[in-house]
This record gives sequence, structure tokens and C-alpha cells, in this order.
Amino acid sequence: MKLEIENKNRQCPRCKEALTAFQFNHYQLDRCSCCEGLWLEPDKFKVLTSEFDVYRDDNSDPLFIRKPTPKAEGYLPCACCSKLMTRQNFKDISGVIIDLCIACGIWLDKNELKQIRSFVASGGLGRSQDRQLDKQSQQIQALDDRLSDVELMEKMLHKFSVKRIFFRGF
Ligand SMILES: [Zn+2]
Ligand SMILES: [Zn+2]
Repeated sequence: MKLEIENKNRQCPRCKEALTAFQFNHYQLDRCSCCEGLWLEPDKFKVLTSEFDVYRDDNSDPLFIRKPTPKAEGYLPCACCSKLMTRQNFKDISGVIIDLCIACGIWLDKNELKQIRSFVASGGLGRSQDRQLDKQSQQIQALDDRLSDVELMEKMLHKFSVKRIFFRGF
């Protein structure tokens, strides 16, 4: 029983302070009062980074300015289970680096939620999708190129053996 209560205590991955309840629009999140980082369960993260939620929020700022990607640092421990989290560039192109525990949720440093919502408000999700489609079409193109390379090679080999037959007489 005690263990369960302890597991529910969420701790800031950076400051090790206990997180406290924080109201953001309709949602209650956990926040570190020290560094102002936010902890979000996966479902809350999904809603708060969706176009649906961002576009109906009058405070959303569509002027997204991509910040330089922060330089790599050590991985942070999860606010819930303390296992090291992984890092992701949100939607590949936003430049907002989120810390993620697959089992528990997402840690956002100060202003990162604002930055992500601004990215979404600027149509970033569409751009990210375009880029993924682009990547896919590039992969298809690369496959095409490889195929024509094979064809070219076959032709060259054919030429080679024709010439070999011609010159060597077999
Ligand atoms: Zn903190
Ligand atoms: Zn975790």
C-alpha cells in the first residue's frame, strides 16, 4: 500500500521537488514550482497538442518561431517511475525536444507546452505530415533509382559478355 502511494508521488526530473497541481485551461497538470516544468499523462499530452484544443484556445499564438535545438544533455529520469526517459523532437520538425517515458507520460520544460501549441497553431502538424509524405516519396524515388541502377548494371553486364564473346571467341 505504501509503495502505491510513493509511486503516485511525482517528482521533478530536474529539481527532484514534488510536483504540485497546476490548472491549464480545462486540464489539471502536475508542475514543478521551482523550474516550472510540466508533467503530462499521455492522454492529456495528446489533447493539449491537438489542433482541436489549440484552435479553440484564444490564447494560442500562431506566430511560431522555431528555436535552435538545445544541445544534447544527459537523459532525465521519469517523474513517475524514475527510469530514464527518451528524447524526441516533437513531430520531427518543431525543434521542441520532449522527454518521454513510454509507460508514464511526457515531461515538458518551462515554455515547451506553449512552444508546441504555437507550433500546432501555425499549422505545424500539416507541415510535419507533408514532410513525412515527402520522405516517403523520396524513399519510393530512391527505390526507383536503385531499380534503374540494377537495369543499367544488367545492360552493362550484357554488353560486357557480348564483348567478351566477341574478343575472346567463346
Ligand atoms: Zn523542477
Ligand atoms: Zn515512467
